[in-house]
Amino acid sequence: MVDVVCLGILVADVIARRVDELPHGAVSLMDEVSLHGGGCALNTATGLARLGLSVTVVGKVGEDTFGDFIVGLLDERGLDTQGVLRDPAAPTSATIVLVDSAGERSFLHLPGANGALGAEELPLDNVFAGRTLHVAGSLVMPMLDGAPTAALLAEARRRGVRTSLDTVYDATGRWERIEPCLPYLDLLTVGLSEAHGISGQLDPASAATWFRDRGVAEVALKLGPDGCYVAGAEFEGALPAFPVRAVDGTGAGDAFAAGVIYGRLIGWPLVDAARFANAAGALATTAVGATEGLLGLDETLAFAGLGAAA
Ligand code: ADP
Repeated sequence: MVDVVCLGILVADVIARRVDELPHGAVSLMDEVSLHGGGCALNTATGLARLGLSVTVVGKVGEDTFGDFIVGLLDERGLDTQGVLRDPAAPTSATIVLVDSAGERSFLHLPGANGALGAEELPLDNVFAGRTLHVAGSLVMPMLDGAPTAALLAEARRRGVRTSLDTVYDATGRWERIEPCLPYLDLLTVGLSEAHGISGQLDPASAATWFRDRGVAEVALKLGPDGCYVAGAEFEGALPAFPVRAVDGTGAGDAFAAGVIYGRLIGWPLVDAARFANAAGALATTAVGATEGLLGLDETLAFAGLGAAA
């Protein structure tokens, strides 16, 4: 049995810097164009594997070069790719990330194959093969969001699999699609702006209560440089971020999710899992790219000063 199945979005990120203005019909020169793995499922799976867990990825890419790149990257990182579908009709999802001289990022996103992943084609033997099922990228998987995701989580619960879910900010504002999932979640990791969108609550404590009242067992709200706010049966409160020299926030939320999933899966108390998650999130910000700043278990524990808790 694998430790965690990450079901969700897989994205090829093309990072171009520096782009201070678009040339509009002309050519401008850049310092760097590089290709990276992205998408919450890929990023969180990478974080979990780096912490030493066995991970299966379930998602969809196209039958194209970016799809080959993503599957190759997952293989290289020791992630099980049996659950990655290839779609001959949809391109691999990609984001062009334009980084300006000040480090500000602008995104041009193609939903591609992630938007074409349907419940009826999911390889269920893979989906329910783990000790935890983590849905990574809810709200940007239109064929799975809402009732189909809720049904998957309910079935996972029925089979004794722990459940967790992370969202992506959805500019279309159809937040209500998360609600059917809430009764079946052992863990919800979500940013404050998404928590506000879904619950209508502005402060972390009220949002956490709103989610727990609807059946979520444990909530971990991501607060960027302010750390996190977690709530569960055994602990509720804010935990400060670890001070770091942050250079790129991409993937911090996914690293945070990997940290808290890891901690709870191996049986740490929620408060220790959340501190560890803060450390993983902080480390992710220390290098350009979503996963380049992540460290292994011992190094992350040492960074967090949590050796005694493990
Ligand atoms: P998301 O990427 O989903 O928006 P956040 O930006 O809130 O998520 O980051 C996730 C976690 O990473 C935070 O809860 C925090 O623990 C850590 N983190 C993010 N930015 C910083 C930062 N500048 N300094 C230290 N920790 C950070």
